[in-house]
Amino acid sequence: MERVVSLSLGEVMLKGNNRKSFIDQIIKQIKRSISDIEHGKIYIDMGKIYISAPNDSIDKIIEKTLDIFGIVYASPCIKINKNMEEFEEAILKSLEEGLDKENKTFKAHCKRSDKSFPIKSMDLNREIGAIVLKNTDLTVDVHNPDIYLYCDIKKDVYIYTKKHKARGGLPLGTNGKGLLLLSGGIDSPVAGYMMAKRGIKLSALHFHSYPFTSKRAEEKVHNLARILSRYSGRIKIYSVNLLPIQKEINKNCPEREMTIISRRFMMRIARKISIENGYKSIITGENLGQVASQTIDGLNVTNSIADMLVFRPLIGMDKIDIINIANKIGTYETSIQPFEDCCTVFLPKHPVLRPKPEDIEASESLLEVENLVESAIKEMKIVEID
Ligand code: ATP
Ligand code: MG
Repeated sequence: MERVVSLSLGEVMLKGNNRKSFIDQIIKQIKRSISDIEHGKIYIDMGKIYISAPNDSIDKIIEKTLDIFGIVYASPCIKINKNMEEFEEAILKSLEEGLDKENKTFKAHCKRSDKSFPIKSMDLNREIGAIVLKNTDLTVDVHNPDIYLYCDIKKDVYIYTKKHKARGGLPLGTNGKGLLLLSGGIDSPVAGYMMAKRGIKLSALHFHSYPFTSKRAEEKVHNLARILSRYSGRIKIYSVNLLPIQKEINKNCPEREMTIISRRFMMRIARKISIENGYKSIITGENLGQVASQTIDGLNVTNSIADMLVFRPLIGMDKIDIINIANKIGTYETSIQPFEDCCTVFLPKHPVLRPKPEDIEASESLLEVENLVESAIKEMKIVEID
C-alpha cells in the first residue's frame, strides 16, 4: 500500500497531438510548485498524473496542485497493485480517513481504464459494497450518497473518497505570451488571471505618473503581480512613466479628451513593446460601460490603435462577479488599498463619452506622438517578480 496524489486533467486530455506537450508543461509546473515538499516520483498512469509522497506531504501537495492550470481535480489516494491482496484493507482505510461522523450512506464508483483487468466495474462495485456493509454501519444510496468510494483500475489500482476541485483551464504558456495592462485596480489582475488560465504566459505593463503618483502605488502593483505569479509563474513588469505624455496632452488637447487620448498612448506603447518582445496579445481589464472611456465609442477609438489581438475577458461581466473572482484569487485586498493611479492625475471633470475618431486624431495631430512614445519606452524600467 502506498500513498499518492492523483491529478485529473480534464480538457487537456482532448488535445490530440498536443497532449504530450500539455502534460509535460503541467508536470513542469508541479515540480516547480512542490519543490520544497518531500515527495517521490511523479508519473502518468493511463491519463492521470500521480505523485507518490509520504503521508505527511499529501495535504500540502494537494493544496499546491489545486492552483496549477490544467488540473481539474486532485485526490489523496491509496495505491495497491492488481493482485488485490490489499483491496479490502485499502477500502476500509480509505473510508476511515475520508468519513465524516454525519455520513450515513455510500456509493462505490469503479472505473476500469485497463480493460484487460478481469473484473468488470459493476462487479467490483458490488465487491466494495459487500466489504463496506460487512465492516461498517453505512448503507448504500446510489442517488445521493454522503460519501463515494472511488476505485480506478489502471496499471495499478487507486482507491480514494475525495475529489478536490482545482482551477481547470489550460497549462501555463501553451497559448503563448501576452502583455497585461496592469493598473492597481480590481479589474486588471482578474483579467490577467483569466487569460493565464487559458494558457497565456503573462508579462505586465504598468503606467505610473511619478512623482505625481507615489512609490507605494508602484509597490502595490508589484504586490499584485506577485499574487498573479502564484498562477502564472515569474512575471516581467515593464514600468512606464506616462507623466511627460499626460503633460503634453494637458497642454495641447481639450480637457475632456484627456483620458481617451492617454488610453490611446497606453495602447501605442503596449503595441510597440509587444511587437519588440514577441507578445501576441494585449490583455486589459476593460469592461463595457464601466467608466466614460469604456463606452462602445471609447473602446473603438482605443482599439483602433492596437492593430493586434486585444483580450478583454471582463467585457461583459458585472462588477460584483469580477470582485468575487478577485477574492478567490487573492488580489482584492491589495487592489482596494487606496493609492492614486496615473489615470486620476489629470482626470477631466466631463470626459467625452462618444469620442469621434476624427476629433481625437485632430487633437493628437498637435502632439509629437512618435517621439513621445519613443522616449517613454526609452525611459522604461523592467523588473521581474517571482
Ligand atoms: P478598476 O478596478 O478601478 O476599474 P482598472 O484597472 O480596471 O481598475 P480602469 O480605469 O477601469 O482601471 O482601466 C481599464 C483598463 O485599462 C485596466 O483594466 C487596465 O488593463 C488598463 N489600465 C488602466 N490604468 C492603467 C495603468 N496605470 N497601467 C496599466 N494599465 C492600465
Ligand atoms: Mg475597470
